[in-house]
Amino acid sequence: LWNEILEKGKDVLPPGAASTWLKTCLPLEISAGVLVLDVPNVFIKEQIQSRFLTPLKDLIRALGVAEDVELRVGSEIRPNEQKRAEAAAMPQSPNRSGLNPNYVFDTFVVGKSNRLAHAASLAAAESPGVAYNPLFIWGGVGLGKTHLMHAIGHYVCDNQPGAKVVYVSSEKFTNELISAIQNNRTQDFKAKYRSIDVLLIDDIQFLADKESTQEEFFHTFNSLHDAKKQVVISSDRPPKDIQRVEERLVSRFEWGLVTDIQPPDLETRVAILQKKAELRGYHVPEDVIFFLAQNIPSNIRELEGALNRVVACSELNDEPISVENAAEWLKDIIRNVMKGPVSIDLIQHLVAESFGISVDELLSSKRTSDLALARQVAMYLCREHTEASLQQIGYGFNKKDHTTVLHACRKIDELLKTDLKVKSVVDNVRKKL
Ligand code: ADP
Ligand code: MG
Repeated sequence: LWNEILEKGKDVLPPGAASTWLKTCLPLEISAGVLVLDVPNVFIKEQIQSRFLTPLKDLIRALGVAEDVELRVGSEIRPNEQKRAEAAAMPQSPNRSGLNPNYVFDTFVVGKSNRLAHAASLAAAESPGVAYNPLFIWGGVGLGKTHLMHAIGHYVCDNQPGAKVVYVSSEKFTNELISAIQNNRTQDFKAKYRSIDVLLIDDIQFLADKESTQEEFFHTFNSLHDAKKQVVISSDRPPKDIQRVEERLVSRFEWGLVTDIQPPDLETRVAILQKKAELRGYHVPEDVIFFLAQNIPSNIRELEGALNRVVACSELNDEPISVENAAEWLKDIIRNVMKGPVSIDLIQHLVAESFGISVDELLSSKRTSDLALARQVAMYLCREHTEASLQQIGYGFNKKDHTTVLHACRKIDELLKTDLKVKSVVDNVRKKL
């Protein structure tokens, strides 16, 4: 795990941060969500603090390892030099057109929620430019879009060694274009992007409002498409909902196949955790896997983060991985969502009660106006009284899409100003919370 922090650090921390400074540190323990690092001396501590403490914290949070970092100089438990040397000799990951070596089809777990997106990706990888062109994959954060795109890239590289595969985020595409314009190198830029065999362009929603980038992408797209080269696009929403992107571009996105990825169900979450644990050589008991899958029902990145945290805590604190320990180590993540004084579950019960309906009805897909209102009230109260994210709330209501929750919150906000009946129900439930 520490190696993973060092490895990722190379990308997201300032140049040299991971390879020069962080490498001299060693993880000591994680307690109460704080990762304690042993730092050799005060000088290095100051360097880390002044150069990159904030991005370092962001990184360990993103990996789910801990919430905070403490730098401790000259700790009692002086780590042995062997470990330090091992960390330093970490193998460099091979860099294949910017593709993450772990994001391949073999490591992608297929479930109901992503079956179509997976099948379409595999088809596009097997016969690029022929099957679905463009392939447009959309879905919420952390659900596997980037993983699938990289997997397509690897697959094509493996099977057509000469093929030119480029993976690029829309942000990077934009930045490259801007710098090409500034340096009078737009011809090079055009030449580069129009000579690709497979273009994987991630998070296309970032092109909103960027007119000249859209213009350039439009031409790139056309020239690749005309030449029957594969284009794969990802976004956090379907083409028609991408705002402030030109109509002609959006309609191009719909030429091929549009497919979505939904949040994984419990079984798939369990399977993904098992896969991740196996890939990393973690020994995590079945009941702990199940506990994580049940209590972290949001996105896969968070699920992975929770797994990382549990393993890190167990290693560093030298305690076994058990459900009890996991609950303790993940207290800050789990508490507010499922357990604790106010949970989504509790709100659902109280709201169902005050509308005189059952919780099953509340969570069903029936659309009578009474049920719809009750659902909206319940979502609104979850938003106000739990720390669950929109997505987590959506999940709690069997909604695939967090925009439903957002819509509900806005609607109830409005109704509260005018509708006395709604106001009294909301006040009533609030009193009981
Ligand atoms: P997105 O691009 O949709 O935000 P990512 O592709 O970055 O999401 O996925 C987030 C994390 O979850 C990655 O580490 C990825 O490997 C993992 N992941 C997502 N879906 C799956 C899956 N079906 N099987 C295994 N790992 C997955
Ligand atoms: Mg992504």
